[in-house]
Amino acid sequence: MSNMIISVRNLKKNYGDFEAVKGISFDVKRGEIFGLLGPNGAGKSTTLEIIETLRQKTSGEVVVDGFNLDESPNEIKKIIGVQLQTSGYYPSLNLTELIHLFAGLYNEDIDPMVLLDSVNLRDKAKSKYKEMSGGQKQRFSIATTLINKPRIIFLDEPTTGLDPQARRNLWELIKTIRASGTTVIITTHYMDEAEVLCDRVAIIDSGKIIALNSPDKLIDELVDTGFERPKEVKKANLEDVFINLTGHVLREE
Ligand code: ADP
Ligand code: MG
Repeated sequence: MSNMIISVRNLKKNYGDFEAVKGISFDVKRGEIFGLLGPNGAGKSTTLEIIETLRQKTSGEVVVDGFNLDESPNEIKKIIGVQLQTSGYYPSLNLTELIHLFAGLYNEDIDPMVLLDSVNLRDKAKSKYKEMSGGQKQRFSIATTLINKPRIIFLDEPTTGLDPQARRNLWELIKTIRASGTTVIITTHYMDEAEVLCDRVAIIDSGKIIALNSPDKLIDELVDTGFERPKEVKKANLEDVFINLTGHVLREE
């Protein structure tokens, strides 16, 4: 069994004349949390969706757990979990009903309460999707990625728009999922999030990978160039103040 669960080689994607992804290569190690970081429009979602078999590539090679994307897309679909855009849910069904619906699509026999427990939503089993807070919706959509017991899950900006408590809560959930042996690929443009969550990150800009390493090594490399922050950094920031005043506890429940 290879140490690398995903290998991407010279991946390109053109939309008409526009080159959105310009020949990128990277590997994801089995069991790691791998981050794709970059500004809006960098090509993160395009890259993820190609690996997820949801978008056609222009050229290049993608291998997921030994399955070549060109030859075995259906095998890849079976071993991955993909977070859908939240608007894709039936808003009037309750969470238990939604899980039954998804489990039926995947042909999986699953106990909704066990799954809801794993993302701390047992109390919401009879609540409608549309009645939940932003953080709860994100936790639920992560739960749905786990229904087919995937080896890899793909999370595209799962914490965008969440408050600091909900964001931290989601980080803990993602770490728990990884601890159970699932590889996680996540996109974000929050660098603090990548720093605490990701084992390694690829920084992508205008369709090219411009750096790839652990957050720690990338920071050390920058420091080695003689870089210093322009002014003395305080020992806390405004987010620390906010968390200190309002606590870590989620308020949404
Ligand atoms: P990111 O997720 O990093 O914000 P995307 O992968 O969504 O970036 O988009 C990369 C670039 O490709 C952007 O300039 C975007 O406007 C363009 N793009 C994305 N999807 C399409 C599409 N279906 N048709 C044309 N251009 C697209
Ligand atoms: Mg995107």
